[in-house]
Amino acid sequence: MKTKTFCPIPYMGGCVRPDGYLSVCCVSKDYKDSDIEQFFYTDFDKWTNSEQIQNFRKDLANGIEHKWCERCWVNEKNKNKSMRQGYISGLYPWDVKEALNQYKQKETVFNSQIKFLDFKLGNLCNLMCVMCNPHSSSRILTERIKNPDIFLDADKFKNIDYTWPETTDFLKFIEQYGHSLSYVKFTGGEPLINPYILNVLDRLNKKCIVNISTNGTVSDSAILTKLQEFENVWITISVDAVDKLYNYIRYPSNYDNIHKNIIKYQKQIPHGVFDIAVTIGFVSLLDIDNTINKLSQFVNDFTLIKVNSPKFLSVNAIPEFYAEVIAEKIKNINNQNVAKRIDNILSNRKFDNDLYLDFLKYINNLNKVRKLNFNHLNYLSPYAMQDQS
Ligand code: SF4
Repeated sequence: MKTKTFCPIPYMGGCVRPDGYLSVCCVSKDYKDSDIEQFFYTDFDKWTNSEQIQNFRKDLANGIEHKWCERCWVNEKNKNKSMRQGYISGLYPWDVKEALNQYKQKETVFNSQIKFLDFKLGNLCNLMCVMCNPHSSSRILTERIKNPDIFLDADKFKNIDYTWPETTDFLKFIEQYGHSLSYVKFTGGEPLINPYILNVLDRLNKKCIVNISTNGTVSDSAILTKLQEFENVWITISVDAVDKLYNYIRYPSNYDNIHKNIIKYQKQIPHGVFDIAVTIGFVSLLDIDNTINKLSQFVNDFTLIKVNSPKFLSVNAIPEFYAEVIAEKIKNINNQNVAKRIDNILSNRKFDNDLYLDFLKYINNLNKVRKLNFNHLNYLSPYAMQDQS
C-alpha cells in the first residue's frame, strides 16, 4: 500500500477562494485547470462529490502524484516540508486515521462532516506587497486598473465580484457547516479588516481552532477581541524582512508599526500560538540574515514560504553571483535549523535569465508607479550599501 501520496485534506473539507469558488486547498492548482468545472462555494456538496474530485482522490489513493498537488511533491523532492506533511504531522486537530482508512480503501466519496475550511473572503487588503496580486489585494487591483499601460493583467480581475460573502447565501452556508468545523483558516486579503469574518466567528464552535494569517498592520480590530472567546487561536504574522526592506516589500506598511503590533497581539491573546511566516524569494533573501536574527526575539522557528508566483520573484530569477552573496548572508543567521532550510531552497534554484530580466522590468515598473528608487544591488554589493528609500 502506497501512502506517499496520502493527504487528509481531500477527506476533510476545502478552500474557498477570494472569488468564492472552491479549491482542494490553498496551494493546489485545480483552479488553474481549464479542463475541469469550477464550483461556487454554495455548491460545496456537489463539488466535493463531483467526478473530478472523486478522480483526484482515486489518483492519490493509487499512488499518483496528481498534477494539482505539484507544490507538495516538489517541496518534498527538494527536502522542504510540504503542506501535505504539515497536515499529517499531528499538529492539526484531527486524527488522520479515518481519512487514511478511506484512502487505503480507495473510497472516493466524501461522506463525513466537514472539519476544515480555508477562507479567503474576498480580496480586501490595506497593503500592496511586491509578491502579491489583484486577486488577493484590493489595493493592487486599483493600482493596476489605474496603470493599464504598465500592468497588463488588470482586465482579468476587474469584473470579479469580491463581495459575495455579504449575501444571505453565505450566512446560510456558515450556519450549515460552521458547527462541525474543528479548524478554520482565514487568509486574505487582510483578515483583520475583513467585514465578513465576524459573521463566521459568531457561528463557530468555540473549541474550533481559528487560524488567522495577518499582515500585522492592524492592532485594534474587533476580530482580535472576538478571538479571545476561542480556546485555540493560531496567529500567523507575515513579515518578510525588517526595516527598510520590509517597508519596500509590504508597501506602504512600516516595520516599526509591525514590531509594536506583534508585541500587542501577544498581550491581547496570551493563550494564542504565534508564528511568523517569511516568504523566501529574490527580494526577501536580500537581507535574510538581519530578518531572521531580528525576528527571532518573537519566535523560535519560522514558517518559510517559497515564492513560486510570480516566477520572476522566485529564487530561480537570482543570478549566480548574487546567489553566492546571499549564501554568505545565510551563514550569518543565528538559527542553524532555519538557515539550513533557507539554504536548501536557494541551493535548489534553477536560474533562468529571462526571469531575471522580468524581475528587473517589474522592479522598474513598481519604482515608477510608486515613486520609489529601490535597487536590489544596494543589498548585494558590499561596496554599495547605500540608503534605501
Ligand atoms: S497534497 Fe498538498 S496540494 Fe494536495 S491537497 Fe494535500 S496539501 Fe493540498
